[in-house]
Amino acid sequence: MSSLQREIEARGERIFTLVDQHPESLFSKAGFYQGMMALSMRDEHFKVQLFRFVDVLPSLRRSSDIVEHLEEYFAGIRNGFAPFIDTGVRLARIVPWVSGRVLRWNVSGMARQFIAGKNPNDVMKTLRKRRAQKIGFTVDLLGEAVVSEKEADEYAARCLDLLDGLGRETRGWTDPLEKNSALFPVVNLSVKISALYSQMNPADPADAIAHLAPKLRPILRRARELGAFINFDMESYVHKNITLELFKTIFTEKEFKDWPHAGIVIQAYLRDAEANLRDLISWAHARGTRFTVRLVKGAYWDYETIKSRQNGWDCPVYFQKPESDVNFEELTRLLLKNESIVTAAFGSHNVRSIAHGQALADELGVDRSRFEFQLLYGMAGPIKRALVEMGYRVREYCPVGELLPGMSYLVRRLLENTSNEGFLRAKFSENVSADELLRDPKELVRQNRANLSETTIPAITEDRAPKNGASIESPPGDIYENSPLVNFVYQESQEKMRTALHEVRNRFGEKYPLVIGGEKVWTDKLTPSVNPSAPKEVVGYVAEAGIPEAERAVKVARAAVDKWSRTPFEERARLLERAAAIMDRRRYELSALEVLEVGKPWAEADGDIREAMDFCRFYAEQMRQIGRPRLTQHVPGEESYQHYWPRGVALVIAPWNFPIAILCGMVSAALVTGNTVIMKPSEQSIICGAMLMEIFQEAGVPPGVLNFLSGRGSVIGAHLVDHKDVDLIAFTGSREVGLRIWESAGITRPGQRELKRVVCEMGGKNPVIIDSDADLDEAVVDSTYSAFGYQGQKCSALSRLILLEENYDRVMERLLSATGSLRVGNPEEPGIMVGPVIDEAAYKRIQEYIEIGKSEATLAYQAKEVPPEGYFIPPTIFTGVKPNMRIAREEIFGPVLSVIKVRDLDKAFEVANGTDYALTAGFFSRSPADIDRAKAEIEAGNVYINRSCTGAVVGRHPFGGFKMSGGGTKAGGADYLLQFLLPRVVTENVTRHGFAPEETPEYRDEFLWPQR
Ligand SMILES: Cc1cc2nc3c(=O)[nH]c(=O)nc-3n(C[C@H](O)[C@H](O)[C@H](O)COP(=O)(O)OP(=O)(O)OC[C@H]3O[C@@H](n4cnc5c(N)ncnc54)[C@H](O)[C@@H]3O)c2cc1C
Repeated sequence: MSSLQREIEARGERIFTLVDQHPESLFSKAGFYQGMMALSMRDEHFKVQLFRFVDVLPSLRRSSDIVEHLEEYFAGIRNGFAPFIDTGVRLARIVPWVSGRVLRWNVSGMARQFIAGKNPNDVMKTLRKRRAQKIGFTVDLLGEAVVSEKEADEYAARCLDLLDGLGRETRGWTDPLEKNSALFPVVNLSVKISALYSQMNPADPADAIAHLAPKLRPILRRARELGAFINFDMESYVHKNITLELFKTIFTEKEFKDWPHAGIVIQAYLRDAEANLRDLISWAHARGTRFTVRLVKGAYWDYETIKSRQNGWDCPVYFQKPESDVNFEELTRLLLKNESIVTAAFGSHNVRSIAHGQALADELGVDRSRFEFQLLYGMAGPIKRALVEMGYRVREYCPVGELLPGMSYLVRRLLENTSNEGFLRAKFSENVSADELLRDPKELVRQNRANLSETTIPAITEDRAPKNGASIESPPGDIYENSPLVNFVYQESQEKMRTALHEVRNRFGEKYPLVIGGEKVWTDKLTPSVNPSAPKEVVGYVAEAGIPEAERAVKVARAAVDKWSRTPFEERARLLERAAAIMDRRRYELSALEVLEVGKPWAEADGDIREAMDFCRFYAEQMRQIGRPRLTQHVPGEESYQHYWPRGVALVIAPWNFPIAILCGMVSAALVTGNTVIMKPSEQSIICGAMLMEIFQEAGVPPGVLNFLSGRGSVIGAHLVDHKDVDLIAFTGSREVGLRIWESAGITRPGQRELKRVVCEMGGKNPVIIDSDADLDEAVVDSTYSAFGYQGQKCSALSRLILLEENYDRVMERLLSATGSLRVGNPEEPGIMVGPVIDEAAYKRIQEYIEIGKSEATLAYQAKEVPPEGYFIPPTIFTGVKPNMRIAREEIFGPVLSVIKVRDLDKAFEVANGTDYALTAGFFSRSPADIDRAKAEIEAGNVYINRSCTGAVVGRHPFGGFKMSGGGTKAGGADYLLQFLLPRVVTENVTRHGFAPEETPEYRDEFLWPQR
């Protein structure tokens, strides 16, 4: 055993001895809280329900609501809590106000355990008590998620007030150790950077810093005047790089360059924590002034792992707890070795981590008065006391605020305290031995690795276990692993996007041909495509097809059907996969093209390319699932096999709003199923169409199998829809055109062989309902995004926000200020959320609707500043909207939101469903019963609960609506390909004179496509 390990054990045991002298349970408050936590640790389902109940409780106003929620959350739970619930509910039915109050009081008690005071005055009682115990403080202001600049300004003002108050109340307080006190001001404020700017976007650090620095400077100045200390807390990974950059930027400014009382947090659970810390240390040497680092493991482990898995990102955190512990120790060493420039604050309740810090400091000769331990208010009281007794400097992190804004903090603490992996639970609840608790985490990492290699149980050890290619028996959606989104948190991604924008700009004005039968075709007319942010800029030109080119395309496509339909589906699937790989290679370039041709913000453009790749790979997989003739039933003496033939020639007509994804989705479905295709992109996104053609050509699509026709919908589109040799039309676009296609495809023309199949996806008038108990932090952010993201030009966009009378005022206040804070501008700039609408016609049409809105309802908000050039329409909100008004019934396809106030939830559902459309819908609620109702009752193809109503992911959210939103098809779903196919069954009597084979194979390929 190393001498350091021996010393760590000695220190650790000493702490445990001191802790045991003052026995205290993990949870200092006995009774209700302790009971709840004990049950949570035994029963995972109960824990989830309890934490959700705790989360919603502060927003419930009436006692009867509390009782209802209690019943909804805990009905069916059978554990030690059941008798309490049963009695509570029975009692509640008689006297609801008593039960409601008792519950609120108990849960408030839980929160009070972790919240040091309701307001700055209140917290002083705690701080004085701690002073007597020789424990210092850092105060953190709890707040709701900041959704607008108004709320950000309020947070900044509260910070200033708090600093003033703390300065006044602690005048004359001295350092508890009275040694090296200059390094540790008494007043210490922890600031949450995300609370100072509502529009922080990881892709745009420069914008964030430009907004954050002016808000921070007055706080820093005041702190300096008061001799106080300011710490930047660290939040989720999406904000990390900006927080680090901001710290370095502001503390390099002349005014603050020589100020040593600034600190920042490093989270050891992050894989890049060491690189960040080293960078900070070199920066500090260059700056020439010391600073502080609070080293923690990190409070957002669950969030980071969920988020990265959802988006297919490399996960930024370690997967094994001991890896975080090892990293914590390595970073401890790095901090202590650089003590001459950085003061260390160790934020941990883990006695091993703490003892390691103590032992290492001694080994390196760092005096114990030159660093500190920081622990959270309401947790690990005996450890704090032990550290003080050992002569260490201890500071307590004291959150201040009301119950409602404190909920997310409370839930984080509850999770931490009940975590299977956590030190506190192991020590105080499960009585794990001191030996075990003080083990070197490196040993545990080694041991875990060895165990993992022996076990067959899947464990999270790497980022993504590729699932694609799973067996035929796997459920269709679940076998598919989506392509990752680009994570713009990385500077490298931002730079690649900037370079791509530059390169696409350099190619402005290039000309692209039609492609018919594999040949480039030029006509005497060129269609320009312009940048909607700057209509004078021509992105490129494409040859314009007329009737002769359309006729030629049908002819070659028809001629190619025979061979392509006989090409093994595996080969067709591989074509799609090659196309996806090319898109992956050209990913940034394609995104940049979308930014410039259709005005998509960065992340939206990237999402579109990701979706296109997903369509290719998902449909390739799907085709492999359904491609082989499959036995229908096991019946003795007879064999019946069902399989599919392609329909023939497919015409694909796509919209401009998802200019590559939707076009590619329809084209790839048609191709992989063995149809030949005439692809017609929207007139507003022809360059994107030309690029997709290039991609499929490079992927090796045979001549004639895919033909690219750009031209006017009213001319070639209409001609091809009516054409006798077109067997299938896949259309996505407006209701007006969709219905026309539907109708005209129903007419059988002379010489036509097939009844035309129409795959038709149209618009929506999508509602979102916000229930009275909804989490407004989420509901407001997600609703503004659903309504105004990509200028409301998604068929899935929110256009009718339905609010209950009960919370109308609360929602509106936040919604209006949140909308007023959105960044409107040229989407070439990263971080813009609202760009231009697609073209002049759209601009005029939307303006007309705004005028109609003004005459029908009340204009509640319209942004004032939009760029002077380009088709920019400011985000606009109407209130006082009635369901029968035109702005509530007709699809506007722009950044215009109608707010409808209703009496209750019954009415809300009635209004939501009272429309011609049924595409997407959203519902925000924390009532399990109301959520069940929404799941069952809302008429929409895609119903989203507690999230935005846009952003469907292939395979995960098969997308498409019914009523006047479409033919009920589901793009990106398991049954989508069937529409491009004709089902066929071959039945053979295999009995000969009463004798039949005993075995019938599951699949038979021999009659699939006999060679000619
Ligand atoms: C004073 C103070 C200030 C704080 N400020 C911040 C802050 O600004 N930002 C912030 O994010 N956190 C902050 N924290 C919270 C802190 O991150 C958690 O309290 C802390 O991680 C718990 O660690 P521990 O050493 O006390 O306990 P331990 O039980 O030893 O460690 C638990 C931690 O290990 C990590 N972990 C859990 N499971 C795994 C796993 N499977 N794989 C890898 N790692 C895992 C997680 O980080 C978890 O929180 C602060 C904590 C304190 C005490």
